[in-house]
Amino acid sequence: MNVPRLPLPAASVAIVLGTRPELVKLAPLIHELGPAARLLHTGQHWDEAMSGRFLRDLALPRPELLTGVGGRPRAGQIAHSLDQLDDAFADRRPVAVVVQGDTNATLAGALAANARDIPLVHVEAGLRSFDRAMPEEHNRVMVDHVADLLCAATETNAANLRAESVAEERIAVTGNTVVEVVRRQLPDAPTRAALLDAHGLRPDTYVLATVHRPENTDTAEALRAVLTELDTIAGAGTPVLFPMHPRTRAAAARFGLTGLLRRITAIEPVGYAEFLALARHAALLVSDSGGIQEECTVLGRPLLVVRRSTERPEAVAAGFAALVRPGPQLGETARTWLSDSQDRLAHLANTPSPYGDGSASTRIAHLTTHLAEATPIAA
Ligand code: UDP
Repeated sequence: MNVPRLPLPAASVAIVLGTRPELVKLAPLIHELGPAARLLHTGQHWDEAMSGRFLRDLALPRPELLTGVGGRPRAGQIAHSLDQLDDAFADRRPVAVVVQGDTNATLAGALAANARDIPLVHVEAGLRSFDRAMPEEHNRVMVDHVADLLCAATETNAANLRAESVAEERIAVTGNTVVEVVRRQLPDAPTRAALLDAHGLRPDTYVLATVHRPENTDTAEALRAVLTELDTIAGAGTPVLFPMHPRTRAAAARFGLTGLLRRITAIEPVGYAEFLALARHAALLVSDSGGIQEECTVLGRPLLVVRRSTERPEAVAAGFAALVRPGPQLGETARTWLSDSQDRLAHLANTPSPYGDGSASTRIAHLTTHLAEATPIAA
């Protein structure tokens, strides 16, 4: 898409983020904005495995790092981030603030922009799981109602916003930036083959699993239900590769469930390009992640979503994903999907992603620039 670009001053658009999926999905927009982007990282995920290598591999500029946020309960994370963001915005007022998704960083960035009357852009607006037990659902709803520009990835997301009486002029259907980030970061075929070799895996013959949401890790029963099914699949001869989120590793140890990891290949989280390569050739993905529900549609791979609900019904409607409960339903559906894997993979390879054409970040950069230019700078 060839859209005219308006120049913005250096470091004038504040991008507030704090977790791995935000780094991934904001990367193409940050590149579009170029020198105008100013990154503020709350430090919610701030270690080499979950942040450092993502900043490097995605070629992101060095962020300003907030302190004392990670490891606190939700309210403390939001409060500490908000306070420091307010100082940062007072020190150097952005022409716009951009937040993405539904994390505590997203909400803190939105509130900080709102408090100083700075135009706010919400990337990935309008997602709704309608599950009020999820903190992410509350974050999304609150951010959408203060944002000035709501970048909905799909028409379904835009319809959710209209149903909540968000004014039409604040909504833009842009597609999801995940499409372009996957296309750019997926390693080429020889590199993917070498990565699979390094894990001792053959294409189309293994399961790749990730689990980290509170509904699957907060109680021993829930985590046991997931791990038992993955263990059974591995025991029946299909390798299960399981890059473990730090929260899940800690929960497995706390609940005495590490015995269930013996037949599963549990590894540390991997870098983004490596994860995409592994996902690209998995016979089946099993996950409770939000981002993976979108990535599977670009990679053409089937996904079992281990969740009560999803805010991404498009992946289910297009045939890429199905919702399953963590117990026997997970195991039974996995076995069915693995048994008709060849047909399913052939079908998905020819099914377009419902998340757009790979131009979302160009559109969002253009809209953000217009919003900033249209808003008079406060004294
Ligand atoms: N991911 C990764 N390495 C891993 C596991 C996941 O790079 O070992 C990526 C994955 O491709 C997706 C993102 O991390 O883009 C998802 O992050 P997470 O599941 O933490 O958050 P969610 O998407 O659920 O908000």
